[in-house]
Parts: sequence; C-alpha cells; structure tokens
Amino acid sequence: EELPLTRADLRREKNYIDGRWVDSDDRIMVRNPATGRILGSIPDAGADEAELAVAAAARAFPQWSALSAAERAGKLLRWHDLILDHREDLARLITAEQGKPIGEALWEVGYAASFIRWFAEEARRVYGDIIPGHARDMRIAVTREPVGVTAAITPWNFPLAMISRKAGPALAVGCTMVVKPSELTPFSALALALLAGEAGIPNGVLNIVAGEAQPIGKVLVTHPEIAKLSFTGSTGVGKMLASVAMQSVKRLSLELGGNAPFIVFDDADLEAALDGVMASKFRNAGQTCVCANRFYVQSGIYDVFVDRLAKRIAGLQVGNGMIDGVNVGPLINDAAVTKVQSHVDDASSRGARVLLGGHAIDGAGHFFQPTLVRDLPPDARLCREETFGPLAGIVSFDTEGQAIAMANEGNAGLAAYFYTRDLSRSHRVAEALQYGMVGLNTGQISTEVAPFGGIKQSGFGREGSRYGIDEYLNMKLVCTAIE
Ligand code: ADP
Repeated sequence: EELPLTRADLRREKNYIDGRWVDSDDRIMVRNPATGRILGSIPDAGADEAELAVAAAARAFPQWSALSAAERAGKLLRWHDLILDHREDLARLITAEQGKPIGEALWEVGYAASFIRWFAEEARRVYGDIIPGHARDMRIAVTREPVGVTAAITPWNFPLAMISRKAGPALAVGCTMVVKPSELTPFSALALALLAGEAGIPNGVLNIVAGEAQPIGKVLVTHPEIAKLSFTGSTGVGKMLASVAMQSVKRLSLELGGNAPFIVFDDADLEAALDGVMASKFRNAGQTCVCANRFYVQSGIYDVFVDRLAKRIAGLQVGNGMIDGVNVGPLINDAAVTKVQSHVDDASSRGARVLLGGHAIDGAGHFFQPTLVRDLPPDARLCREETFGPLAGIVSFDTEGQAIAMANEGNAGLAAYFYTRDLSRSHRVAEALQYGMVGLNTGQISTEVAPFGGIKQSGFGREGSRYGIDEYLNMKLVCTAIE
C-alpha cells in the first residue's frame, strides 16, 4: 500500500541493532487495519537478533552511562526536536499501521516527544541523600545509579508513545535499551530509532527488534545481562513474562489491562461529563488501557444523559483514519471485533437495550459501529472485562455507596473517572476509588508531567513525572566509618 511520506526513508523494513539495519531471510507482513492491505514487512527476527541486540546494549552501557547527564540530555533533546520535525510523517505511519485518526496520531507524536524532553530535563536532577550517621564515626550517603541494560516490550495501541515513555527515562539516566515493539505496529518504532541515530545517540544505546514475539520476548526476560523489563500490554502476557523475569530477579514495571469505571452523579455538569465520555471512550476507537469501559449514571439523570449521549455518538464518523473528519478508526484486527461483538451480545442476552450500533461493519478493514447500550446489568461481561472497542454500556445506580462498590469490583486498578460538582463528594469518592489514577471532571488524564500507572492486577511502577525516573535507577548506600 502506498504511504505518502515527505521523507520516504522513514519507513524502515529492517531491525535497528547496534546502529545498523539488520535483515533476515523470512519476513512478517504488516497490514493496515483500515484496508486490510499489506503495508510492508519486517524481518522474521527471533532469538538470534535479540541476543545481538542485548550484547550491543551491554557493550554500549559503560560509555553511555559515563557521560554527564547534560551530555545525554543534549542528544535526547535533539531526538525530541527531530521527532517533532517529522511529526506529520510519523503520524501517517501510526495511522497506517494502527488505525487511529490522523489528528489523534499527531497528538500521539507530541505526547511521545514530551517524554523524551521531560526525562532529559529530569535526569539532570537525580539527587542522592546524605543521612545523619547512626554513630559518631559513621557517615551515610545514598546515590542513585542507572540499572544497566533494560528491555521494553510494548503494545500496538500507542506504538510511538509507549516506546518513548520507557526509552526516554532509561536513556536519560544512562541505561541502554532493547525494545520489542508489537509486530502489528513496527514501523513507527523503527522510524523512531532512525531519528535517535540521527540525533547522535550512539550505536547500541537504543535497539529495536521487531519480529516474532515469543522467541524475542524469551531472550529479553531470561537474559542475565538485562537488569530490568518494562512491559505494557495485556494482563495475561504481563503475568507470564513477569514470572519468568523473576527467575533472574529482574526489576519490573508492568502496565497491564484496565477496566475503567466512569461515574456520573446527579449533580454533575452533564455537558462536561458527555465531553469526558466521548474523549475517554471513543479515543483510539476505545483501544486504550485507560478508556472508560463501564458507565455508572445516577438514576435522577439517567434518561436525560443516555439521550444526550446517543446524539453525540450518532455524530461520530467511522472510517479510515487518514480521511479528514473521521473520528473513529478501525479496530486492530478481527479478534478485537469479535470481542466487542461478544460483549454486545452478552449485554443483550441479559436484557440490556442496544440503542445505537451493535455490529461489525462489513467490507475491508476491522470496523465496529460506535455502540450504545442502556439498562446494562452490572454483572454483564463488559463490566467485568476490558472491551477495547467503541462500546459504551450504561448501568444505573441510586446511591454514592452503590456506585463506589460497583466501581471497585474486579481485579483492575488502572484508571477511574467521576463527575460531580459537590466538594465533599469529590473528596470522598476520589479517596474511595481503588485505582492508580482518578479523573475528576475530566476524561483525559495522560500527560508526561503526571505519574501514569496502576494498582491491583493492572500492574505496578509509574511512567512519566518525577517518579517515572525511579524505575530506571538503583539506590546505592555508601556507609563509611571514619577515624
Ligand atoms: P495487546 O495486544 O493487548 O497489546 P499483548 O500483551 O498481546 O497485548 O501485546 C503486548 C506486547 O507483548 C506486544 O509487543 C506483543 O508482541 C508482546 N507479546 C505477546 N505475547 C508475547 C510472548 N509470549 N512473549 C513476549 N512478548 C509477547
């Protein structure tokens, strides 16, 4: 499939290992989810390429970590600027391989770049501690050092930003990294690596190995040289990788699935809440781990809210994200479409009413109609499992206590949202929600300046913010006895 890029060489079809473009004999095809057509291919890389990349990252570590933070920051800031210089091309790559509307892809490029700048700045302030000694002749100093060679395994839904959110802090503090992007969305990752090289980031510091997930992943989670793994993806794969990584006691950051509740109280600003639903539910066609998954609307406003939401959803335009005006793109593949359909069917079978949509769209690509379901019973599958699609199901509730209890059900603890104008309720509910992130009167909580991450089975570790840097640092105590 043709891809109109200003700079055609940004589309790479080889892996980036030790600063070189590495090929293999067999190839894996990559398709555009909006058209089903082949976009290009990547090497069918496996364990050998992963080993090469780890070795390169290990060789690069001593020199890279020995630079001053300011020297590393200089290179990272050049990388940041190059990403923004190529914003349009990177966005086209994202839309072509992932499906999101081009406006959202442009936003993602800015978001991706923001982590690199933030951590370039932040790494200059990796301070230690001097602690008063426990005896007259004892001195205690605490320093923080880069963990070493790191690995990242990243998903397809934010193919650029999920890499920079990990590589930004890692590289800024002096770590080196091997990234395994999703095989569904390798091209934005490879373009990012090309720009890293052009920014002067030395060979081996950042390596991208796209290819077969299992053999590459196995090397990354078992290799003794890898000190830390940062994974974003599904809960099942994350648990499996984490348990293997523990065999060699690696440090871990896990950002796994969510099942975000979105609560609207009677006293909410309804228009603001509707804006929040549209932003949180339909962004990326519902395929973000912080997407609102289940809606709880208080009985006094239930009918009004559902009516107004139906009007908003009816205004969404579904199609190829490259086309102007489209605001809901395709889902990533057929399995995703099947899952959304199963959630709709399950809801109907339990007595819920489908007001809008409810079906896959025939023809090329993996499209699903934006769907609204009312009178949803709280035990429906879509309340218990992440849907990852453009399906909004609305449960009614009477009391604040009921809403909190339903919202806290289940094993996920990533993001939650609620809308109210009552001050006391704001505090009570924010405190009661068992989630790593709470959006209060907003459906958009992601920014490089704030800590992103979950609790419960949504994982641990934080990305972004001043806390995100700790994921790539070890603490060292120097305890000194003096004369
Ligand atoms: P999702 O498809 O919801 O993003 P996945 O967990 O399947 O979730 O994918 C996230 C990342 O994990 C991708 O890079 C994928 O290739 C990778 N992955 C999937 N299965 C494995 C595996 N068995 N070993 C290593 N990596 C894997």
